[in-house]
Amino acid sequence: MHQSMSVGSTVLLVVIIVVVVLAFNVIKAKNYHYECPKCQRHFKVGVFEMVFGGMLRVQFFMYRLVRCPYCGNTEMMRAVRDQDEDKNL
Ligand SMILES: [Zn+2]
Repeated sequence: MHQSMSVGSTVLLVVIIVVVVLAFNVIKAKNYHYECPKCQRHFKVGVFEMVFGGMLRVQFFMYRLVRCPYCGNTEMMRAVRDQDEDKNL
């Protein structure tokens, strides 16, 4: 009885972590973009790609292994907030 309760709370914890990671990726896809260091162009990653590709791809906080849709360069790029760019314009 006590055993099954601890397994249940472990599963719940894993579910909470997965939901938080998914929510974080959705927020990132909506509010952040990437800047290609090779061609300097800006591009956004779609929510679907961010959420489902995010589990398979390497990411470290705001850095993420992404492929530039313009020049095809694939490397670790930093996510930049969309608002920060607006201030510069
Ligand atoms: Zn590029």
